[in-house]
Amino acid sequence: MARVIAIDGPSGAGKSSVSRQVGSRLGFLHVDSGALYRIMTWQCLENGVDTSSEDAVAAFAGKVKIECVPEDGRIKYLVRGEEPGNRIRTPDINAHASQVATVKAVRDRVTAILRSLAAFGDLVVEGRDITTAVFPDTPARFYLTASAEVRAARRQKEEVEKGIARQSAEAVKASLLARDRIDSTRKYAPLVKADGVMEIDSSELSLDQVVEAVLAALPSAWC
Ligand code: C5P
Repeated sequence: MARVIAIDGPSGAGKSSVSRQVGSRLGFLHVDSGALYRIMTWQCLENGVDTSSEDAVAAFAGKVKIECVPEDGRIKYLVRGEEPGNRIRTPDINAHASQVATVKAVRDRVTAILRSLAAFGDLVVEGRDITTAVFPDTPARFYLTASAEVRAARRQKEEVEKGIARQSAEAVKASLLARDRIDSTRKYAPLVKADGVMEIDSSELSLDQVVEAVLAALPSAWC
């Protein structure tokens, strides 16, 4: 049975950096579940699917072909043989992804893909519903958070570094809070900190400190 470390939390809480480092320290594959919702959103927009129509998105959800390949310590996603790269990191995708992620058919599809990845080996999976809906029975569950200001500053820095967009800190914060609101109030698998999940507030912690806190909380046989 593959071992799974589940890490949930709002945008900009530092899930990706922490998951990547924890994965590389332990030899677990890093899985970015948000990228799958972004791919579904990207494909909806590319194919003219009205993302505000639940029925249209649900009907389209099964048509998107995503190939998952383990490589260099992570799961790489391919659409028609290509990695989507920054095409799924634009402000336009940010603005539509949470809406697409409310649709049950999309969530069911992504959840099935994520569970199937355990066939590749041990995983560290980051997202919004990994501790509650995708792998709720794993003994290693974390809820990573940080203040809205810290999260917005991190996201803005990341966007500038990747050359994706040059938005003001206020615009980044507003987009992030809008997504948080949809993610935590949706009907299916909302973002919540469930009982028994270890919460880590990274506002005043370095990346190394958060990684160490996660490693220290794992079952001792895993490290
Ligand atoms: O993590 P990231 O910001 O890339 O996720 C994009 C969007 O995908 C989130 O705003 C959220 O709506 C959705 N998502 C989700 N469940 C997950 C991961 C992401 O609903 N497990």
